[in-house]
Amino acid sequence: MRIEVLTIGDEVLEGQTLNTNGAFLGGHLFEMGYAIQKLSVLPDEPDAIRDAMHEALGRANLVITTGGLGPTIDDLTKGLGAECMGRQLKFDSHLYDELKKRYPESDALKNQALVPEGAILLKNKIGSASGLLLLSEEGSLLLLPGPPRELEPMFKEEAAPLLERHFPPENPSKTLRLSLCVTNELDLDPMLRSIRSAHPDAEIGIYPSYGTLQVRFRIQERFERLALWQKQIQEAFPTHFFFEPTIAAAVHKQMIEKKKTVALAESCTGGAISQRLTAIEGASTFFLGSMVVYSNEWKKRFCGVEESTLQRHGAVSRETVIEMAQGLLEETNADFALAVSGIAGPTGGSAEKPVGTVYLALAQKGESVDAGKLPITLRSRSSVIEYATQSALCALYRKIAYGAKSFS
Ligand code: AMP
Ligand code: MG
Repeated sequence: MRIEVLTIGDEVLEGQTLNTNGAFLGGHLFEMGYAIQKLSVLPDEPDAIRDAMHEALGRANLVITTGGLGPTIDDLTKGLGAECMGRQLKFDSHLYDELKKRYPESDALKNQALVPEGAILLKNKIGSASGLLLLSEEGSLLLLPGPPRELEPMFKEEAAPLLERHFPPENPSKTLRLSLCVTNELDLDPMLRSIRSAHPDAEIGIYPSYGTLQVRFRIQERFERLALWQKQIQEAFPTHFFFEPTIAAAVHKQMIEKKKTVALAESCTGGAISQRLTAIEGASTFFLGSMVVYSNEWKKRFCGVEESTLQRHGAVSRETVIEMAQGLLEETNADFALAVSGIAGPTGGSAEKPVGTVYLALAQKGESVDAGKLPITLRSRSSVIEYATQSALCALYRKIAYGAKSFS
């Protein structure tokens, strides 16, 4: 089964609109057991669209388009799709009656009721453009609207069941995704290579993302192997696994389950860790608050960092973050206090402490503080902040979930 996707629209080609439709379709088709062989972006130009449709229909069993289904001057997909499939456009009076219940009568609306002969209509609950499925032995065409809020529900509710009926996935596969608080993908690589050489049919991917990474296995048969691989990796990384879609969600769940509270002292992350936690509903159960202690003055005043510590070791140091975390723990009586201080750049770095130097400390009632330097090699300001944020959440998670220290 070969599927190609054509995303149509000048605004996508020109970088004004991110191609989320391509990503959405790729993800959902993959989950359903299909794979996209090719994903293209096309301008709102009749020749370009016509050529691309012909070419794709020549190769693929199914071509899916997004965009250009509206009633305006730049919307060409329906007419060109009908032409490529050799179908006439016919006025569908039943569809027009339905549209008239939601929109005032107009020529533009009449245009929305023109349907290629023999097309299966896909309902659009949000907008006026119906989706259209044109089936043919030589290659089928599925036309979907451009706005994601129209396309996404239409795909899930209407297109997916039609595809499963008309194009049953040939090789039902199973996918296992594992999320780990592991920084370096090379730590996992040898294990994945040995799994791959014993099982050449396994598709294996590894996707690092700022202090966490995801491993993906996909196989077409003997699905019981997935659980074995998970166990094998879990044995090698016993305190690194999380089971929620994001590390913030994993912290959230653990905090609530274990009935713990946390307070933050954020310097270089400027509130980003707090933002991640409070973006999830119910954070007030465990999140006491965050001090954005950006200046030395505030580090002293609100976290009780000693002037002498700042003088001797600097604001970006293990000693300072330890005092920040300890001071905050005493001040707030939280179960955990987490502190970060670092150099996000682009200026402010030195030979001894280059941009990307970030220290983290995690203090817990009645225990010694776990503190150290993060292994950041990235240098852009936003990546340093992102990395520090995710790493702080990982340190907190691994401590609550597994009692693990992040630094020795
Ligand atoms: P259209 O169906 O071509 O009139 O598209 C209408 C709107 O949908 C555009 O203005 C975009 O905001 C959005 N859109 C179109 N194509 C895409 C795409 N590939 N990814 C995300 N949004 C899109
Ligand atoms: Mg358009």
